[in-house]
Amino acid sequence: MTAVQEERTTDDLRALAERAGRELEDATALEILQWAAKTFGSRFCVTSSMEDAVVAHLASRALPGVDVVFLDTGYHFPETIGTRDAVEAVMDVNVITLTPRQSVAEQDAEYGPRLHDRDPDLCCALRKVKPLEEGLKGYLAWATGLRRDESETRANTPVVGWDEKRGKVKISPIAKWSQEDVQTYVTEHGVLTNPLLMDGYASVGCAPCTRRVLEGEDARAGRWAGRSKTECGLHG
Ligand code: SF4
Repeated sequence: MTAVQEERTTDDLRALAERAGRELEDATALEILQWAAKTFGSRFCVTSSMEDAVVAHLASRALPGVDVVFLDTGYHFPETIGTRDAVEAVMDVNVITLTPRQSVAEQDAEYGPRLHDRDPDLCCALRKVKPLEEGLKGYLAWATGLRRDESETRANTPVVGWDEKRGKVKISPIAKWSQEDVQTYVTEHGVLTNPLLMDGYASVGCAPCTRRVLEGEDARAGRWAGRSKTECGLHG
């Protein structure tokens, strides 16, 4: 398959995504990313929360120098920013940091402090969803680290699918992986991980909305704990 041309229509891209989702279901994560690199070239990026650098590492093997997009919400743990800096320093990737239109102080002035406690959906929309929408504009396809075993809401994640909201191909190369698979890859390749994963956190998001998980809880139970919210809107 040759690199997708600029003039490809949305319908072409949707059909391409749906076909690839079927054809690549049994492919390895690296093969899926090699397909993405060959098909989209520089118009493909990886998004990373800097929980670990597994997908960024895989993507850099498929496309050295690949763009790795990180959303700096202004609410991250220092360990997450440190992981971002380490990834930028040691891996063959191009880290792009996206920031919201307003700083936390500006948002507090307009909406009042601790919007994340009062209206987390609005806070996520302002600090995650909108900046990502802007940041992805130049790309035809983006890759995520979503896994089917993380939660019920992610159980049907296709390895390649169509992101209707953004009109882009969405690739989840490790959708079929377990936490053990991730750990094995990290160990075998010496991949950078967020130090908080060694400190009781199973999923790392913004500091005000993330807590350690308890024995027997699923990986995302520590995100927006005590609320019905389970996703930030990036994958809805
Ligand atoms: S995770 Fe929490 S702090 Fe981060 S953008 Fe969403 S509501 Fe705001």
